[in-house]
Amino acid sequence: MESLIQEYPTNTSFEYKNWAQTVSQKPHHFHEPRCTEDIVSIVTTCLALQQQTGKRQLIKPVGVGHSPNDICVHLQPDATLHMVSLQTHMTSITFNPSEPLMITIQGGVTIRQLLDFIDEHNKTAQVPLSVPNLPSITDLTWAGLFATSTHGTGIKNPILAKQMVREVTFVDGTGKLRVASSKQDDDTFKSIICSLGCLGIITELKMEMLPQYNVECHERLLPFTEVLANYTTFLTQNDFFRFWWIPHTKHCVVWTANRTQKPLQPAPTPLHPFYSVTLYHSLLVKALANPQLLKLVNRLFSLLLFSKPKHYIETPEKAMTFNCLFPQHTMEYAIPVQHTKEAMLQIREMIERKGYCVNFPLEVRFTGKDDILASSCEGWDACWIGVVMYRPGLVDPPHYKGVFKDFQEIMDKFQGRPHWAKAFDQDTFSFKALFPRTSERFLAIRQQLDPHNLFENSFISKVLRQ
Ligand SMILES: Cc1cc2nc3c(=O)[nH]c(=O)nc-3n(C[C@H](O)[C@H](O)[C@H](O)COP(=O)(O)OP(=O)(O)OC[C@H]3O[C@@H](n4cnc5c(N)ncnc54)[C@H](O)[C@@H]3O)c2cc1C
Repeated sequence: MESLIQEYPTNTSFEYKNWAQTVSQKPHHFHEPRCTEDIVSIVTTCLALQQQTGKRQLIKPVGVGHSPNDICVHLQPDATLHMVSLQTHMTSITFNPSEPLMITIQGGVTIRQLLDFIDEHNKTAQVPLSVPNLPSITDLTWAGLFATSTHGTGIKNPILAKQMVREVTFVDGTGKLRVASSKQDDDTFKSIICSLGCLGIITELKMEMLPQYNVECHERLLPFTEVLANYTTFLTQNDFFRFWWIPHTKHCVVWTANRTQKPLQPAPTPLHPFYSVTLYHSLLVKALANPQLLKLVNRLFSLLLFSKPKHYIETPEKAMTFNCLFPQHTMEYAIPVQHTKEAMLQIREMIERKGYCVNFPLEVRFTGKDDILASSCEGWDACWIGVVMYRPGLVDPPHYKGVFKDFQEIMDKFQGRPHWAKAFDQDTFSFKALFPRTSERFLAIRQQLDPHNLFENSFISKVLRQ
């Protein structure tokens, strides 16, 4: 059986490391399948190995491996870990003119690759296209980001999986190739498009684009209290809206944006990277020994970067993505949108009362509700609040554990659901309590698609425990 696995280009020296360099692991086997048949063989071989030897085999599909938490690794020594990456060989993208808004990708395709494909496609297409929405960076696979309920911002936009996925082809935990589609819209579809990586290996995704558009953006610094008083207006009047509160200041950077057919009008030249990256990083290093310095740093950079209002019209990519700078710990929760103001007031009060020093930005985004069984926005329009704590020189900042613990306590009060890819206390997490309408249905689908628990790593066994 081992020799069967060796037929695929498996690698035993590969080391997985996430973007923030907070999680790493050497799997026993790293598989880079060339086609769907290879994936079926990996699953059936692992099943046969498990049955014949009694030794647990665990399969973990990975995308770019950017998730900040341990969703992609297995922290127990009880299994042979097979990581499967489609990024080497399964990256084709196809367009069928009979469905002019649809693009089909293989499971290893990244956002970057799709955006490049669309640029080429648009040169000759009758209906030029744009992606409907984006997260903050492009170096993520679509299969990976859908699995974790990744989102952009704007109450008119649900999470990306709901907004874009129309059909999913995947190999389940019995080695069976399955197709789930939005036309059926059954529980299989409503689970596989936000699967946490525990229902099978996605080999292909059909996704719906929009006719090409640009994004007209306004960015300005506004008082914290004014933003909280008016956030519902910003939400309803714009396609996209987010704000960044700058901790230790009275201000937020408000970004509102709308799809438009107006021509591009690039943003003003950004601050030179020496100031926005090099100087900022060296100040963060100094703040490790003297956290109070962060208060000054936040004020200085809010003035340097955001004191002048900006108006620009850009491509969706340039409008919605940005440099996330340095390795960081990050925690993000979705809460019902009506609690936005109260939650933000409690977070500010907590930071002041505890004397914490916190990086900017504290990011606040929004998404429309959906009916995806394990989506963090299932059943209600959501406000997402995210805290980042940078690790300059890969050193943890002094206050981050306290900030995360107290932030999570506030999120818990509002029935907050964590972002699946980011930090949260897995020991106290209750899937059933937080997903009362859908947890049983998701677990039933999981039992059906992965009856031998091939896709159950330590993250899954903790967060989905009964
Ligand atoms: C700098 C940075 C910026 C980010 N910005 C945002 C943001 O703006 N909005 C937001 O919501 N999130 C954001 N995230 C989180 C990010 O979207 C998720 O962590 C995403 O899952 C990462 O994609 P990936 O390709 O690295 O997936 P991975 O981390 O490799 O995998 C994530 C999950 O997907 C599963 N998976 C991967 N490939 C497959 C497959 N083929 N079949 C089945 N399951 C699969 C894995 O098993 C795992 O469960 C950000 C993360 C970083 C590091």
